[in-house]
Amino acid sequence: MSRIYLDNAATTPLDPTVADAMMHVMQQHYGNPSSIHAEGRQARTLVEQARRTVAHHLRASIGDVFFTSGGTESSNMVLKGAVRDLGITRIISSPIEHHCVLHSLDYLKQHYPQVEIVLLPLSDTGHPDISVLEHLLQADDRPTLVSLMHANNEIGTRIDLQQFGQLCQQYGALFHSDTVQTIGFYPIDLSQLPVHFITGSAHKFHGPKGVGFVYINGSHQLKPFIDGGAQERNMRGGTENVYGVTGLAKALDLAYTHLPQREAHIRELRAYLLEELALHFPQVTFNGDVAQGHYKVLNLRFPLSPATELLLFNLDIAGISVSGGSACSSGTDTGSHVIRALRGDADDAVNLRVSFSHYNTQQDVASFLSALRGIVEK
Ligand code: PLP
Repeated sequence: MSRIYLDNAATTPLDPTVADAMMHVMQQHYGNPSSIHAEGRQARTLVEQARRTVAHHLRASIGDVFFTSGGTESSNMVLKGAVRDLGITRIISSPIEHHCVLHSLDYLKQHYPQVEIVLLPLSDTGHPDISVLEHLLQADDRPTLVSLMHANNEIGTRIDLQQFGQLCQQYGALFHSDTVQTIGFYPIDLSQLPVHFITGSAHKFHGPKGVGFVYINGSHQLKPFIDGGAQERNMRGGTENVYGVTGLAKALDLAYTHLPQREAHIRELRAYLLEELALHFPQVTFNGDVAQGHYKVLNLRFPLSPATELLLFNLDIAGISVSGGSACSSGTDTGSHVIRALRGDADDAVNLRVSFSHYNTQQDVASFLSALRGIVEK
């Protein structure tokens, strides 16, 4: 039985062209980028080409892009570095951020008790309240970092980076956005956006796992996050992941080159799913902002019943991979802090995240619907 993968917000399949590019580097370019001989220089060139590609697609300065092991490391670096190195004494965020942000905030609360952590209230669809943010920024001018994700990985709700960034700028606050779910899916123009830090992860856009980047606006330099060699311009010691960053750059290049076609295809699949759900599953409602949210995500909500209780499990047995929220809450949705923030502790529904990629087909969606019918209407 061939499986149907509809969990592309958790991770995406590696693009074969990306795999080829990485394999070539692995086999041919084994030099250490810090070595001064020919092999080293070739490897250095590959790392710097990858950096140029990222900077080009995001309209960033090359010197503001630092490679890391992924989204988690990048956000840890920004939040902890902002307190340690930039004198930040207040962080304003939201309760539905990814755990790489929320758990970094827990760490800061414990180790820097002078830092105030404020989580913004949310609308029913997961939008952080911008008027509360403005009030907080207006009422207190202590050095503040605002950290709000561009699109939520579980419910897809998206903020307007320009609007939030401008507000932060108006009140002199630094602005970090976890853009892990939107890099490669939405154009991001850092020459225009008033953001100081964003983060990306290759495996979310058909690149390899374990490699990502952080953009740090040049005027807000952090100190090294990993001490060691002088790699990444002293910011992150350790021999560079040459084939990883090559794969990241190749995947990003493909994502932005083919964005319009990929987006149109995914939007079609999502619209088809929405249409069929409205026709055949009137009991289904949605978590998040369906109209304005990320086009690759749809979070469905089923009334709890004996038939839906083990929905994820039964779909998995039927060969369909979806999730209950983030990748770590496989099997059940009890672990979703996002749904809890929106619905409270006593939520008695079954929540199911469907997330698409351009590799999915209409037949995949039809098979998902058919499996769903079999399980729910039993
Ligand atoms: N931020 C968001 C919104 C995510 O969806 C993820 C991935 O699960 C991460 C951060 C973490 O990225 P990584 O897996 O590269 O550490």
